[in-house]
Amino acid sequence: MDLELAPEHAGFRAAVREIAQSAVQPWAAEVDREHRFPHEAVQAATQSGLMGVLIPQEYGGAGLDALAFALCIEELATACASTAVIVDVHNSVGTEPILLFGDEQQKRTWLPRLATGELLGAFALSEPSSGSDAASLKTTARRDGGGYVLNGTKVFITNIGRAGLYVVFARSGSDERAAGISAFIIPAETRGVRAGQVFHKMGLHGSPTGELVLEDVRVPAANRLGAEGEGFTVAMRALDSGRIGISGQALGIARAAVEEVSAMMRERGHGQGDDFTLAEAAARLESARLLAYHAAWLCGRGKPFTREASMSKLHCTDTAMQIAIDALQIAGEDGAISGSSFERHVRDAKALQIYEGSNQVQRVVIARELLKAG
Ligand SMILES: Cc1cc2nc3c(=O)[nH]c(=O)nc-3n(C[C@H](O)[C@H](O)[C@H](O)COP(=O)(O)OP(=O)(O)OC[C@H]3O[C@@H](n4cnc5c(N)ncnc54)[C@H](O)[C@@H]3O)c2cc1C
Repeated sequence: MDLELAPEHAGFRAAVREIAQSAVQPWAAEVDREHRFPHEAVQAATQSGLMGVLIPQEYGGAGLDALAFALCIEELATACASTAVIVDVHNSVGTEPILLFGDEQQKRTWLPRLATGELLGAFALSEPSSGSDAASLKTTARRDGGGYVLNGTKVFITNIGRAGLYVVFARSGSDERAAGISAFIIPAETRGVRAGQVFHKMGLHGSPTGELVLEDVRVPAANRLGAEGEGFTVAMRALDSGRIGISGQALGIARAAVEEVSAMMRERGHGQGDDFTLAEAAARLESARLLAYHAAWLCGRGKPFTREASMSKLHCTDTAMQIAIDALQIAGEDGAISGSSFERHVRDAKALQIYEGSNQVQRVVIARELLKAG
């Protein structure tokens, strides 16, 4: 068993680290303070080819695997968690559904534009009355001639207003649960599509999150992703690998907190109490990283990975939250000041325990997978 990164993965990680440190991290505090989109950082990611990490080269992407993707998101999140979630959602749940369920025409039409970052991708599943219970969503997709007409409101959509393409889930059939749901590719410029309220969040201030309003949005049947009624499967599969990206986000936030508090302890001195807290944080971080790499490794080899991705998301995000709080505690009053990176890490980490399936939902998934008839 070889736990060493292969040279191509190590080389890719080093390249992303260089970009993250030089072109992403310098904007992190300002982006957080001013609640503004990190356009310099996203542009740097775009110019470096990080918007098409998982897209095969034949469609203009880098053609890398899930492990490379996890490494990429960890590096970006160590520098700026807001930038990491923008790039993560774009590459994973905003693009992967087309990669995995699109027909050849859809792939040729959309993937090259997503790979270059010309279009930013987004994923629109959640609604005001359906978060964890996504199968109860109410947005409708009514058949009309050769296409569909969509109506409804999605909430908490990452990349809202910036996205050029939304993967939208809507009810196209009479079945009131999962079997009635279909997935659609909706370009942002389509008539009837607009951004509604943008939410003022406690963290991830640079990542826009808000409502996607769909009013009599007409799309041709060619924009349906997968078969009619297959939308819930599309969403669940996208979220499975999405959780590897969220794990990367969590590892990045936790690593930043550990590195920053270590530097502070070296500089100002430290007692054994703080040493123990730091040691535990480092051990937890390393165990979380191994879970994430394992889930990514399974995914990249086409093996079943639902359980491992959920375990990884649960453990990595709980770990990031705990480490962020512990680092702030060690930093003391310097950490408690508004605008310190320690308090930013605490605010940024919280959402990770909620999105792409809350950590309670991860427990539901893990238990279901464990208790499947063997
Ligand atoms: C910053 C941010 C970005 C987001 N980005 C997107 C996006 O891009 N696209 C998108 O579609 N959605 C997005 N979301 C929405 C996110 O996926 C939902 O918030 C999440 O699925 C939880 O749904 P909810 O908030 O409605 O909580 P609810 O489902 O109402 O749950 C409330 C509480 O009950 C718990 N709970 C629910 N069901 C169970 C259960 N069966 N067993 C035990 N406990 C349970 C939950 O864990 C939670 O603690 C985002 C959310 C945030 C905060």
